[in-house]
Amino acid sequence: MEKTLSIIKPDAVAKNVIGKIIDRFESNGLRICAMKKIQLTQENAENFYDIHRERPFFGELVSFMTSGPVVVMAIEGENAVLKNRDLMGATNPKEAEAGTIRADFADSIDANAVHGSDSLENAKTEIGIFFTDSELL
Ligand code: ATP
Ligand code: MG
Repeated sequence: MEKTLSIIKPDAVAKNVIGKIIDRFESNGLRICAMKKIQLTQENAENFYDIHRERPFFGELVSFMTSGPVVVMAIEGENAVLKNRDLMGATNPKEAEAGTIRADFADSIDANAVHGSDSLENAKTEIGIFFTDSELL
């Protein structure tokens, strides 16, 4: 069993498809351990995406992630990290496989509906940014 972090990004929250995205997880053997809807501050978003700080799109990424509320979730299941990435589809929705969350709900490489941790190690760190151990149920 693994836990991973999922974020429903501001574009998908604004589209009112939180439930449809959560259904993809629950229908594919992933269980929600913790969940909250929050507004990220600039500092939150910069710290969360620290690994991308030097990338040319960092400013846009931070301004997009703070443009409206997000839903952060810790989700659990067998091979949860990889399974979540498979369900999400490619970063650029134009390249995402049919039936993936990004193919169905994302508009662009910036507004790409969801975030998912990309390794078990990063998942632990990212879950710890948003949730205490006692909140993971
Ligand atoms: P995420 O980390 O959000 O789950 P990802 O792991 O698929 O997405 P990363 O390479 O970690 O992709 O990039 C983080 C985010 O930065 C992407 O989700 C996307 O919104 C944005 N991004 C990545 N590459 C580009 C790019 N070339 N131009 C604009 N934005 C980009
Ligand atoms: Mg990433």
